[in-house]
Amino acid sequence: MPGMSRLLDDGLSDLALEIATAGFVALWDGRAVRPEELAPRHPRRARREMAEMVKRGRAEVDDGDRVVGVHGLTLRPTRHCFVHAGRSHRTWCAFDAIGIPAALALDAEAQTTCPSCDRALHIAIRGGQPEGSDNVLWLPSATVRHLMVDFCATADLYCGRDHLEQRIDTARAEGEVLDLSSAALLGREGWVDVAGYLGGFVGGGPTWGRVNPMRM
Ligand SMILES: [Zn+2]
Ligand SMILES: [Zn+2]
Repeated sequence: MPGMSRLLDDGLSDLALEIATAGFVALWDGRAVRPEELAPRHPRRARREMAEMVKRGRAEVDDGDRVVGVHGLTLRPTRHCFVHAGRSHRTWCAFDAIGIPAALALDAEAQTTCPSCDRALHIAIRGGQPEGSDNVLWLPSATVRHLMVDFCATADLYCGRDHLEQRIDTARAEGEVLDLSSAALLGREGWVDVAGYLGGFVGGGPTWGRVNPMRM
């Protein structure tokens, strides 16, 4: 399986990563911002880079070309979110709902549903570490051309392995079954750039001092 650090930044230019990270900060505050506002010094390139990210399922924009989703955070309704400091942040998938608080060392609660039985699953996360439980995550590892379609669409959390196997043929499908602490570990790797950058920008709570931007 390719390293998680490649999942978010695979083949993206420095400017695209800068836009993605700035877009993530805006979404954290619930703001939808046009790409040229995210990189004011390079407005035309910013629009081009954003169009490329949208094409590859790594960002989403609304009718007014404002960024409404990037790096797993979205303003669109989905069945996945995490609640931090009394605010709900929606995500593209269950992996994002666990991985983002893990990478940012947050106290949070990830909320999602089991695709097999529709049960609501609530995962308590303390300082980025999810509480132990029988829940398991399906981590798809097939080639990712469109991040939301090829990865997020099936990166779900299940009540337990039995419910996962009702939906996924683990002998044939490309991917891995992970427990919550392994999912958190991969999340820290996946959002390491965002975590390093966000230090002073987002949240502002005491937990932010614990963000460790070290590469894994
Ligand atoms: Zn279930
Ligand atoms: Zn995702």
